[in-house]
Amino acid sequence: MFGTAPSAQQLRDWDDQHVWHPFAPMQAYREEAAPIIESGEGFELIDVEGRRYLDGISSLWCNVHGHRVPEIDDAVRQQLDRVSHTTLLGLSSPPSIELAARLVEVVPEGLNHVFYSDSGSTAVEVALKMAFQYHKQTNHKQTTRPAKGPRNLFATVGGAYHGDTIGSVSVGSIELFHRLYGELLFQTISVPSPVALRRPAGETADGYLQKCFDEVERIVREHADRLAAFILEPLVQGAAGILVHPPGYLKHVRDVTRQYNIPLIADEVAVGFGRTGTLFACEQEQVQPDFLCLAKGLSGGYLPLAATLTTDEIFEAFLGDSAAGRTFFHGHTFTGNPLGCAAGLASLKLFQERDLLRNISRNSECLSRMLKPLQVHPHVAEVRQQGIMVGIELVQDRETLTPFPAARRTGHQVTLAARRRGLILRPLGDVVVLMPAPAMPEHQIQQLCETAIDCIEEVTERRAG
Ligand SMILES: *Cc1c(COP(=O)(O)O)cnc(C)c1O
Repeated sequence: MFGTAPSAQQLRDWDDQHVWHPFAPMQAYREEAAPIIESGEGFELIDVEGRRYLDGISSLWCNVHGHRVPEIDDAVRQQLDRVSHTTLLGLSSPPSIELAARLVEVVPEGLNHVFYSDSGSTAVEVALKMAFQYHKQTNHKQTTRPAKGPRNLFATVGGAYHGDTIGSVSVGSIELFHRLYGELLFQTISVPSPVALRRPAGETADGYLQKCFDEVERIVREHADRLAAFILEPLVQGAAGILVHPPGYLKHVRDVTRQYNIPLIADEVAVGFGRTGTLFACEQEQVQPDFLCLAKGLSGGYLPLAATLTTDEIFEAFLGDSAAGRTFFHGHTFTGNPLGCAAGLASLKLFQERDLLRNISRNSECLSRMLKPLQVHPHVAEVRQQGIMVGIELVQDRETLTPFPAARRTGHQVTLAARRRGLILRPLGDVVVLMPAPAMPEHQIQQLCETAIDCIEEVTERRAG
C-alpha cells in the first residue's frame, strides 16, 4: 500500500477528502486547487507539478534565511544523529540549554529565564499564566493598595492578535473570534489601537493619538489593582493589518506600566528576529518588558519552537520549597525539542555572521522605493511599512475609505492573481501583506514588489465596477 509515492492527482484528492486546513473556508478551498508544495529552494517554493513560486510571506511570517539553508539543515541533521526528542520535564538537553543562553545574550536586558513551548499562541499563554501566578505568589507586594479582587484582568490593545488558543484569543480582539468564541473567553480591558487611519469622525489625527496615549494612562490607573499584566505587540500590530504604531507609544506603555508596577508582556512573535529593522522591536524604544514572547522566526522558521522569556523578579516568585506549590504547572510534551533548538541556534548564528540587519535595512529601503507608486493608487487607502513588514490596504474609494464589498474577497483575489504569476501571498482581509524573509536578496524583493503591484492593478481594475 505504501509502495509508490502518490501522484499529484491522488494528493489533490486526499487533500480535499481528509485535510482540514487552518483558517480556511473549506468549501472555497476545495474549489481552488491550491498549490501543493513539495520542496523549497532559497526563497522559492516548488509545487508537485513543478511550478515555482516566490515565497512572499516567509511561509507565514516565520522563514528567516530561506529554505534548505545548508547550515541549518546540517545542524538539524547532526542533532538527528544524536536524538530527535527527549523531554525537558525533569531532564535537559544541550541544544535547549545553549539556545537559552544565546537568547538571553541578544534580547533586551533583564530577561534571564527562558521557558520553551511550541507556537506563538502557547508562548503567549505561558506569559499570561505566569503573570497571573506571579501575583498570587507575591501578593503583589509592590503596590501600596491591596487588590480589590482577584488580579486576573489583562489590559490589551484594540485589534490585537496574540494567537488562537483560548487564553491568547481572550487577550486578542479580532472581532470575528470574539463573536464566535466570546462565551469561552476571560475578561480583559482594552485601550484603542493608536493608529489614526480609521479614527472616529470629527477627530484630528493628532487629537486621536493623544487620546490613545491618555487612555493607556487612564485604563492602567483605574484598573491598577486588578491588572495581572498589559500585553501588546510592540511597534506593529501584525494580524490586524500591519498597523504601525506612532513613535513613543511602546515607551509610553512601558513607562505607565512601570509606574503602576504592572508587568508588560511584549508579544514579539511576529516582529522579532529583524522584521521591524532591529533584532527585537523593543530595542527601538529602549524598552525592557517583563515577558518577551518569541516563536515564528525563532527556529529560522524551520520547526515549531517558541519561548517566553522573563526576569529574575518573576522567576524568583516561583522558587521555594517544592511543597509550597509555587511551581509553574505548565509544559508541553515537545517543550524545548532538541531539533527545534538546534535549528534555532544555527539560525541565530547565521543572523549574526551574515549581518542580516544590514540586509534588512537595504530591503526596507527597496520596499519603500518600489511601492511608492501605490501611495497614490485610486484603490489603495494606505501603504503601511515598518522595516520589512508591509500592509497595502485596498479600498473601493480612496477618498472616503469605503471598503470593497466583503463578498468580493478582493484581497484573496490578489492572492490568486499572484499564484498565476508565481508568487505566494496571503492577505489579511483586503490588506495585501508583503513579508519577505529577512535574508531575501534585493532582486527578489524587486520581483516581489513588481508582481504584487501587477496583481493589485489587475484585481482592482477588474473589480472596481
Ligand atoms: C502569529 C502570531 C501569534 C501566534 O503564533 P502561532 O505560532 O500561530 O500560534 C501570536 N502573536 C502574534 C503577534 C502573531 O503574529
